Amino acid sequence: MTKYIVCGSLIDATGAEPQKNKAIVVENDKIKAIVDAGAVPTGAEKIDLSDRTVLPGLIDSHEHLIVDPGDEAAQCAETQNYLAMKAMWNAKAILKAGITTMRDVGEKYFIDVDVKRCIETGLIQGPRLLISGHPLIRTGGHAHFLGRETDGVSDMRKAVREQLKQGVDLIKIMASGGMSTKGSLPDSQEFSTEEIVACVDEARRNGRTVAAHLHGGPALKVCIEAGVHTVEHGILYTEEDVKLVANSPTWLVFTTGVGMVAMESPDTPAHFKAKASAAHANGLKVRKWAKQHGVKVAVGTDTNHGRMDTEAWALMEAGWSAMEAIQACTIKGAELCGLGSKTGTLEAGKWADVIAVDGDPLSNVRDLRNVTFVMKAGKVEFANAAAA
Ligand SMILES: [Zn+2]
Repeated sequence: MTKYIVCGSLIDATGAEPQKNKAIVVENDKIKAIVDAGAVPTGAEKIDLSDRTVLPGLIDSHEHLIVDPGDEAAQCAETQNYLAMKAMWNAKAILKAGITTMRDVGEKYFIDVDVKRCIETGLIQGPRLLISGHPLIRTGGHAHFLGRETDGVSDMRKAVREQLKQGVDLIKIMASGGMSTKGSLPDSQEFSTEEIVACVDEARRNGRTVAAHLHGGPALKVCIEAGVHTVEHGILYTEEDVKLVANSPTWLVFTTGVGMVAMESPDTPAHFKAKASAAHANGLKVRKWAKQHGVKVAVGTDTNHGRMDTEAWALMEAGWSAMEAIQACTIKGAELCGLGSKTGTLEAGKWADVIAVDGDPLSNVRDLRNVTFVMKAGKVEFANAAAA
């Protein structure tokens, strides 16, 4: 089945200037060609997006399906059935916001395993998922209400193997303390060095990468030396920390919006609000240093579902151009996920992950929120949807 998508303006996210009067030829699940708009090929279905800006599907590099902004511990105390249905609801909303690939960095009850399966079999709508199963957390550590409490080297190896058994794509470790857990210090190293090294070794030998939750403090050096693939959040890093990341193969995933929501929302527990507020100003410095020192950066909404516009805006606040911010939301995320040759830009041969927005995100990056059309792997998931 061939589809012929007529684009008002086309931002292919390779970094090239936007193009007018182009059409994307989609065959089955892939982009066959990008051509000058003209006569619709015989037998092809025309999709008219001539009044919109067309981009590749967005890639959210750090998300959770069972948690919304607010009191995370209370939400995670809900029943398994309730959380599974909530995850299904959020998966659909995330796709509708234009996110066609999502890296899930931790769920309870292996809900991500089943949601992924349901999306792949067409039972429900949602983004393409990379999943991590249960985050690994020291007993009583950050987000202990969400993950697998793990203590000692041999238990760490067993915990990684439990996740592998469920078919996860990556392993998530809570290397430092966190914001949303009462009593947790965001810059403390929550696992011993030996535990972190064992986690990365176990994952790597089995062909998986490790994502390390890491706000700041001594765990950063340990994780970089152990060879984690990504460090997440980074809001409390020093400039020396940022240089350490820049001089390593490790990616840094910023999740700025969720902290901003935590500071403002009446649902946020006081301890969470206080920590988020104290860290906020340093976060902008970290983003500026990351830009300055050439860190590999991607972004995630981290429960602020769908709001990639906020993540793009936060990068621009720190000196990224609009095009660079859009790339952090697309091709950079794809590269981080190991999918750089399959998605993240609009180019022949890649999956047809195509979205359209009202407006022009290069002049106003907030227009990334105005998603009105979503195609994932050649299938139209939402057409002429009202902007969120
Ligand atoms: Zn998270």
